[in-house]
Amino acid sequence: MARERIERLKRSKNAIILAHNYQRPEIQDIADFVGDSLELARRAVETDAEIIVFCGVDFMAETAAILNPDKKVLIPDLGAICPMAQMLTVEELEEAKEKNPDAEVVLYINTLADCKALADCICTSANAPKVVETMDSDTIIFGPDHNLARYVEKRTSKRIIPIPEYGLCPTHHQIAVEDLWEGKKNHPAAEIVVHPECIPEVQEIADHIASTSGMVRYCKEARGKEFLIGTEVGLLYRLQKETKTQGKKFYPLSESAVCPQMKMHTLTKVEKALEFEKPVVLVQRELAKEAWRAIERMLRIS
Ligand code: SF4
Repeated sequence: MARERIERLKRSKNAIILAHNYQRPEIQDIADFVGDSLELARRAVETDAEIIVFCGVDFMAETAAILNPDKKVLIPDLGAICPMAQMLTVEELEEAKEKNPDAEVVLYINTLADCKALADCICTSANAPKVVETMDSDTIIFGPDHNLARYVEKRTSKRIIPIPEYGLCPTHHQIAVEDLWEGKKNHPAAEIVVHPECIPEVQEIADHIASTSGMVRYCKEARGKEFLIGTEVGLLYRLQKETKTQGKKFYPLSESAVCPQMKMHTLTKVEKALEFEKPVVLVQRELAKEAWRAIERMLRIS
């Protein structure tokens, strides 16, 4: 069984498996920790393991590698590339900085190391308004997600300059207002809980907006028994698993909210990664040093 072999390899190599909330159920089950980007970054800092197998997308594994220069960070499938992180380029960021010399730069963790290295601070969907409000400047260059930028602007006193021109998560952006009405029609008692990467119109109708782990916390503590969930469908497995004894029910706002890149890791690929200790996530040393400064600032703030 792949599962048993993975457990054996983990023990013999002093390895840990970190998995994002959107991973396949079997990956969530084998992981030592399942969480959102902020929690995974924290875990990556805290672990004593010599090898981290990162079941998430490229920018998350890169972040783990930046935070752990002395550890081996493996990603089971190199094709797990977040399309949103690809949307922001160094050139666009430099241009925005030149045009707005007094602004500070806060970048969503969903960016690559070369952009992170140019940021003043990083944020995640769990802490974005708090991080932005803490900055000294009144104007903040923020990227790459425009929906998250709007969410932050509404909750802080800062002027937000979103970059690039169009930055979005294809998985969240396609969740439409019609999906909410349809969901409400089918489940009138359900609370609507959505991610800040959803479009503003969807956020406005929702009962609660949170990061993925924030959604888990909210649904566990809420009195309600039914929830319509507006994020990647992988989160529903964790929600169902962790509220089993509470008899709660979860429905996706959109069945097609699937991130193909998040689903690329399989048990076989995790086993191979552990056995051969590759593919290794490498970040150029100077870039990593600069990006670390911005990530570490976020971890201190939050
Ligand atoms: S869900 Fe969206 S932001 Fe997250 S990895 Fe997939 S494309 Fe990127």
